[in-house]
Amino acid sequence: MRAELISTGTELLLGQILNTNAQFLGQRLAQLGLDVYFQTTVGDNGARLAEVFNAALKRADLIIVTGGLGPTEDDLTKETIAETLGLEMFLDEESLTHVQEFFKLRGRKMPETNKKQAQFPEGAAIIPNKMGTAPGVIIEAAGRIIIILPGPPVEMQPMFNETVVPFLKKKIGRNNSVIHSKVLKILGMGESTVEERIKDLVDEQTNPTIAFLAPRGEVFVRITAKAKTEAAAGKMINKIEKEIRKRLGDYIYGADDDSLEKVVAGLLKKHDLTISTAESCTGGMIAQRLTNIPGVSDNFMYGVVSYSNEAKTGLLGVPPEIIEKHGAVSEETAIEMVKGVRQACGTDLAVSVTGIAGPSGGTPEKPVGLVYIGFSDRDTTIVQRFLFTGDREVIRWQTANAALNMLRRYLIKYKR
Ligand code: AMP
Ligand code: MG
Repeated sequence: MRAELISTGTELLLGQILNTNAQFLGQRLAQLGLDVYFQTTVGDNGARLAEVFNAALKRADLIIVTGGLGPTEDDLTKETIAETLGLEMFLDEESLTHVQEFFKLRGRKMPETNKKQAQFPEGAAIIPNKMGTAPGVIIEAAGRIIIILPGPPVEMQPMFNETVVPFLKKKIGRNNSVIHSKVLKILGMGESTVEERIKDLVDEQTNPTIAFLAPRGEVFVRITAKAKTEAAAGKMINKIEKEIRKRLGDYIYGADDDSLEKVVAGLLKKHDLTISTAESCTGGMIAQRLTNIPGVSDNFMYGVVSYSNEAKTGLLGVPPEIIEKHGAVSEETAIEMVKGVRQACGTDLAVSVTGIAGPSGGTPEKPVGLVYIGFSDRDTTIVQRFLFTGDREVIRWQTANAALNMLRRYLIKYKR
């Protein structure tokens, strides 16, 4: 089965938003073993949408269109496709009730224009939308499958996963092979070192294949297998994953949807430990990332953004002489910060960061990217020095990563 994607939205053409729907759907269709030969982006214009849709009808068996299901006049995907296929539109009462309920629950009156979100081409199956008002559509016509989904990723993704995937799996049947991937996430080891350690595996493999990605100072190793079934692909991945884990050990902090903060929050919970943070150059990023994880309130107690020297000496009790003598970005200050915050907050653990995120403020002795991270538990305090490269955002991100990773490495060895 050949698939084709059509993304609609003038904002995509203008570069105002990134076409993440194409990325998501491209990945998912590959996992299902479907070949995608074309992806087209078209603005909110009926004639041009009809043009690309007609082209897709000639060369694809499955056409997925996203966007243009809103209530306004420039939302014209369903109407245009129905017209192209020569189908009438009908009103679906159940969908209308759903749209009305959506507004009622929010204490608002449904605008008349929203009524069109409950209209569908004849013969269409409706894909429910739990996250919004625009349902999706499956049409089987002219020997093709046409799937229309709303533009917002928070609506489109669950609809695709929950309704479209089971539908497509049934259509594809047993003869197709599937492509399955797993991403191992590594921190604290450079890309070339990772490659060195597993190079022989990479060279040997054709299925599964092993690929490297390096987003913002991390290394991702992606293992991809092609097999008859998901289970078979999973088995092939497991085997190679075991071998990679043997080589890289606990430099691997997680896989797939794991984030560093999720892993750290899980470990804090497991060991029932509390933590506080004192952040200078990261301005609360560590606290923000940890508090992104639901349920961390039992463990994350306080986050101090001690950006100024006054905050360091006042709130955290860093002796002014220390800052005067060694500077705010120094091993000594990081140590006093972490001791101070742990004491003030009465937590089991604490981390502190102080560094120069740039672009200005660097000197030959203390260049941009220089960061000290302090860590303290009830018995000991340690400090580590880092020198990161990149712009301000990347340096701050890597600093937060390094601090979270220090915590993770402590916690995986933790014994009470
Ligand atoms: P629409 O369903 O066309 O009204 O789209 C509504 C919103 O969904 C847009 O304003 C975008 O914020 C988002 N959106 C639409 N298409 C895409 C896409 N291909 N990738 C990411 N976001 C999108
Ligand atoms: Mg739109």
